[in-house]
Amino acid sequence: MISIKWLLMFLLVPDSILLSVGQTNYNVSRRQQDAVGYLLRPDRVFDGETMHEGWVVRVKDDKIEAAGPANSVSSTGATVVDLKGTTLMPGLIEGHSHLLLHPYNETPWDDQVLKEARSLRVARATVHARKTLEAGFTTVRDLGTEGADYDDVGLKQAINKGIIPGPRMMIVTRALIATGSYAPKGFSPDIDVPQGAEEADGHDALIQAVRRQIGKGADAIKIYADYRWGLMAEARPTYTLDEIKLIVETARSSGRGVVAHASTAEGMRRAILGGCETVEHGDAGTPEIFALMKQHGTALCPTLAAGDAISQYRGWKKGQDPEPERLKQKRDIFKQALAAGVTICAGGDVGVFSHGDNARELLLMVDYGMKPIDVMRSVTSINADVFKLTDRGRIRPGLLADLVAVQGDPTKTITDVQRVQMVMKGGVFSKR
Ligand SMILES: [Zn+2]
Repeated sequence: MISIKWLLMFLLVPDSILLSVGQTNYNVSRRQQDAVGYLLRPDRVFDGETMHEGWVVRVKDDKIEAAGPANSVSSTGATVVDLKGTTLMPGLIEGHSHLLLHPYNETPWDDQVLKEARSLRVARATVHARKTLEAGFTTVRDLGTEGADYDDVGLKQAINKGIIPGPRMMIVTRALIATGSYAPKGFSPDIDVPQGAEEADGHDALIQAVRRQIGKGADAIKIYADYRWGLMAEARPTYTLDEIKLIVETARSSGRGVVAHASTAEGMRRAILGGCETVEHGDAGTPEIFALMKQHGTALCPTLAAGDAISQYRGWKKGQDPEPERLKQKRDIFKQALAAGVTICAGGDVGVFSHGDNARELLLMVDYGMKPIDVMRSVTSINADVFKLTDRGRIRPGLLADLVAVQGDPTKTITDVQRVQMVMKGGVFSKR
């Protein structure tokens, strides 16, 4: 028997939702949020491409309704939100995350894959998701569960259903590796050690694996075009060009793209010619390879922050010790890619370092030679274009009201991107 008290609770609960942000709780009437729009009044608006001083943005339901000079946008019927001193921008898009990983100086990658319970990894991931959103990143392209099977599917669903706060997720599930090429490794050859991604090779097995991952929820397919294969320390190309073409053709048939981890020149070349949409890392790129990327419209996601973090985990004291050779090379490569006019995504491989510190990548992109405004374009409109997320990445009427306000102006001083004042996802405040 359902008592009157319970019945009343059922009737009352849906009208009121509690938004918990840090130590502050916000009681927001859902009815009020749905019915009334907001007029957001910052000092300036970065629309994903250019800066507009004195603009305001009007939000209705989950969409941007209008954006323009203050005197051109009506405030009638809207709740005015004063964001003095801030720059309002599209919600940031993280191009390369692993919500199911946590920093390697806390627990080495091998131990996360082999010793941590999947339930522990998912529990952590829910916290990572909240921190990511509060840092102003309203979308992540999450590039592999690294041994946690299809746990990104449920994580994404929990966020979409409003069970936990977090960014919109574009996921790849397990990712694909050529047999014997990935990790954990270094164990007796007599035992089979669980791997951080799915092994599949050759015509039939690859087609099946791609289709299976898509069937279970992958929004894109990730492959490892090279890796530190076997017991050698150096990375070597893994999949043949024909295998990559087959993966791309199979994924494309479902309207999905392919992302390639590649750090060798030959791995990059095969990924580009095979039709992959982005190359992740690209550490041993050459002027010829970057020219090929430009020619084929392949974007580079350089993951500068991962290398920077790993060097520090290995003992480099940043700001004190001279820069390690590996990072000097990465600077050179990044400059070569910029000089060749390659499209640059913003994605730091966050998970290697702390979730919520996503902006480390943006700071390094500037440090390595990119203009702050170009970095802000990368992390908003360019990431949206490259990942084919046509409903976000810009402040434009009709697009999703995924918005972030930061103190100052990150197109002049990139560190201002870390001074997050307000985050809105789909017209609902996640942080204010
Ligand atoms: Zn990664």
